[in-house]
Amino acid sequence: MTIQFHCSHCKSALCIDRQYVGKQVRCPQCQTLNLVKESMQFSENNPDQNEPTGSPKGLYPENFQPAPATPSRKLQPHQGGMILTLGIVSLFCNICLIPGILAWMLGTQDMRKMDNGIMESDGRGLTQAGMIIGMVMTCLFLLSVFGWILMAMVFEII
Ligand SMILES: [Zn+2]
Repeated sequence: MTIQFHCSHCKSALCIDRQYVGKQVRCPQCQTLNLVKESMQFSENNPDQNEPTGSPKGLYPENFQPAPATPSRKLQPHQGGMILTLGIVSLFCNICLIPGILAWMLGTQDMRKMDNGIMESDGRGLTQAGMIIGMVMTCLFLLSVFGWILMAMVFEII
């Protein structure tokens, strides 16, 4: 998925992958740094006299590299395997909720990192699966606790 926006300086139509949201990219035309924002999505029918004919995607040159926020930045390895394992563990023994909550929290955190391009996104499926299992198991656990409390209260009243 890509985001289309216009250079803040020379108004060139630019197109960049969603993973660069929140990062600065250098305009290939005028070398101005632009902050890529989620809200920059432009509709195709947005008239712009500076926009050349053809899809803005065609403007996306090979040398359109995001400016490195930190030099020699390396993507964090994903923890999809571990998160999915935690999720699966929570399916069988959600002791004190710990595996479920861990899978949920770590999964949420890592999904955000992948969205921001800080983490390798090839583990997205595993991370998401682990996160969802953790979330469901945590909710089920809380529901069952709530149910027990409710039941205890009801029986006490009776
Ligand atoms: Zn520009």
